[in-house]
Amino acid sequence: MKKVFIILSIQLMTVFAFGQKQKTTTVLSRPKLIVGIVVDQMRHDYLQKFYNRYGEGGFKRMMNQGVNCSNNHYSYAPTVTAAGHASIYTGTTPAVHGIVGNDWTDVLTGKKMYCVDDSTVQTVGTTGKTGVMSPKNLWTSTITDQMRMAQNFRNKTIAIALKDRGAILPGGHTANGAYWYDSKEGNWITSTFYMKDLPNWVNSFNAEKQAASLTKNGWNTLYPIQTYVQSAEDESPYEGKISGEKTTSFPHSFSTGNALESIRTSPFGNTITKNFAIRSIDEEKLGQSQATDFLAISFSSPDYVGHTFGPQSIELEDTYLRLDRDIEDLLNHLDQKVGKGNYLVFLTADHAVAETPGYINSKKMPGGVFDRIKAMNEIKNSLKLSVGTGDLIIGEENSQLYLDQKVMESLKLSREKVFETIEKTLFKMEGFSRLIDLKNIQNTTIIDLYKDMITNGYHPARSGDFMILLKPQWFIGYKTGTTHSTLYAYDTHVPLLFYGWNLSAKEISTKTNINDIAPTLANLLKCNEPSGTTGQIIKLK
Ligand SMILES: [Zn+2]
Repeated sequence: MKKVFIILSIQLMTVFAFGQKQKTTTVLSRPKLIVGIVVDQMRHDYLQKFYNRYGEGGFKRMMNQGVNCSNNHYSYAPTVTAAGHASIYTGTTPAVHGIVGNDWTDVLTGKKMYCVDDSTVQTVGTTGKTGVMSPKNLWTSTITDQMRMAQNFRNKTIAIALKDRGAILPGGHTANGAYWYDSKEGNWITSTFYMKDLPNWVNSFNAEKQAASLTKNGWNTLYPIQTYVQSAEDESPYEGKISGEKTTSFPHSFSTGNALESIRTSPFGNTITKNFAIRSIDEEKLGQSQATDFLAISFSSPDYVGHTFGPQSIELEDTYLRLDRDIEDLLNHLDQKVGKGNYLVFLTADHAVAETPGYINSKKMPGGVFDRIKAMNEIKNSLKLSVGTGDLIIGEENSQLYLDQKVMESLKLSREKVFETIEKTLFKMEGFSRLIDLKNIQNTTIIDLYKDMITNGYHPARSGDFMILLKPQWFIGYKTGTTHSTLYAYDTHVPLLFYGWNLSAKEISTKTNINDIAPTLANLLKCNEPSGTTGQIIKLK
């Protein structure tokens, strides 16, 4: 035994001495911190549209010194916030991770579900239901989960967004903290899924009442309004209004509505998110230990501003010019605290957005708002005539119709006949393109790209029976502002930038998919890809 020990010691010493002599690094190399930035509703072209007005330290720093995947798309519909955040972080699509929309109808129970609802947990940080949330409906692991697994949970994941789903889904199942915004008191809150009480630093941040101070002086443009030459006129019949306001134009005072809620529809929602993220870096000491931490930030305000005012508004341009400054602040802070070259940042969006229909019509281009109420009434009437009952549709989410299976079975109704009746009715409606039988996608006469995208967004437990596909630039929504959720390129084409840690400038214009992000990160970070990954590795170097 003693002899064995001596031999082993000599061997170890030899290895040690040899190792020292060679001076080779045998430690796995990883960045100290990964920062994921999702800009809610950011279209790819916003990088170029406002390029000349961005500073050198924000979007441009990432674009010009990092890898710019300029042809990055979603590969499924519906392109909405929850599905987008889940797909970015899981490396797959709703068909696998299960987040088929922000809301869906549970096929088994017929109950309406919200993506991050979890009645088994409680709100932490305020009273009420805004914190009864967790990632329990997400069926796969995330890249944030895998990084925690890879390091035996010695690292931290912190996820932050105004929207609950924008924080919860990126944080995965193992986040140390996911925080979202509650407008009742203007506070950051969480749920008992993560912790029993808010950390002291979150309470201190909340006590500063930043939401009130940031909105106190209202919202005016950052630069003289006549310099916003990339945007349409300020007062416009195609734009919506901030709650309580009488016009669509600057300045927005926030004094008529609840400013703590209106902050969402302003660039200050991004600023408070950035300030909170910076505080989390300092207080949680992210990127300042031996392990590799993950900070997932989602800027929700561009989505609220985009929905209300549309892509051609001065409000949108101003929001991006200010977000550029917030991103610059964040990168500068990372330089200071974590060190240039020690962190890796990626930036993308959860979906893009359509043009405002009234605006493009005024420029002689096609598009419009589909008359959903009329369509549903006519479907009801025609079903009554053809199959004897109009009460067949129990759910309507994400442009999908859910049939009442109990009624279908008890009346022994023919699915084909129901489909044909609805299709025939919808063909008379302006803006309608096709009705797609979601249980028979492969036999639909439609291009393969769309077949795949619909399949990628479908799960039988959570998706509907038939999908209403409208023509491009048509949507179900309001006459003012705009929305998203389709499989068309204007909703799927989003930015994808990787910056920092060992990366140099490169542009990739071959098509990449949103579900490539997680496996690309896993490859770079030397950890397992998330459990449902279907994406490919993008060659960043
Ligand atoms: Zn949206």
